[in-house]
Amino acid sequence: MAHKKFAVSPGFEEGGSLFKPEQLAMLGSIVGEDAKIELTTFKQLYIEMDESRMEDAQAQLRLVGLDIQPAGFFTKNLIACNFCRGAADAGLDLAKQLDQAIAGKEVPSPLKIGYAGCALGTSEPLLKDISVVKMNKVYDVYVGGEAKGIKARLGELFVSGISEDQVIPLVTRLITVFQERGKKKEKFSKFVERVSKGELYKLTGHE
Ligand code: SF4
Repeated sequence: MAHKKFAVSPGFEEGGSLFKPEQLAMLGSIVGEDAKIELTTFKQLYIEMDESRMEDAQAQLRLVGLDIQPAGFFTKNLIACNFCRGAADAGLDLAKQLDQAIAGKEVPSPLKIGYAGCALGTSEPLLKDISVVKMNKVYDVYVGGEAKGIKARLGELFVSGISEDQVIPLVTRLITVFQERGKKKEKFSKFVERVSKGELYKLTGHE
């Protein structure tokens, strides 16, 4: 019996990434006894299950409000904070739109995109490949964070003080540039180093 893996996310809201009891009940009842359910470090569950039953299971999981994404070399769901300042102040609507715009895109290596609703950054945005930090009414975007390995590094400020309507076009453009110019298995932090921030400004139209 062939097994295949996919990702499941409850999304996020004020309070964080919260599964509802009925979502977990559905998950437990539908994936099969031999399925593996892995808790990842990037707020998705990875489900490995019988491939022949996967489509049905995904349809049921969508019905209870779970988001289904591919596992592996794809952009992950937005890794957001808990929006403790409230939906409006912390930018929950933009974060939800950003999540929809970025999740599940095929990329040269798995891409983690972070979001924080204020400069306290409790979602650790500077350890993500790309991250958006809300600074009162404007947004800063960081690139090239790397949490793994002994050469872990913080993301560097890429643009500062952009308006809400500039955030999604910039982040999606950064993903497209990585898709077009990244080498197979190249980490995004290495890609930023190789291409240079100067070139990235040109390629994203933020010179
Ligand atoms: S990043 Fe700011 S708004 Fe978001 S949970 Fe942390 S302290 Fe609250």
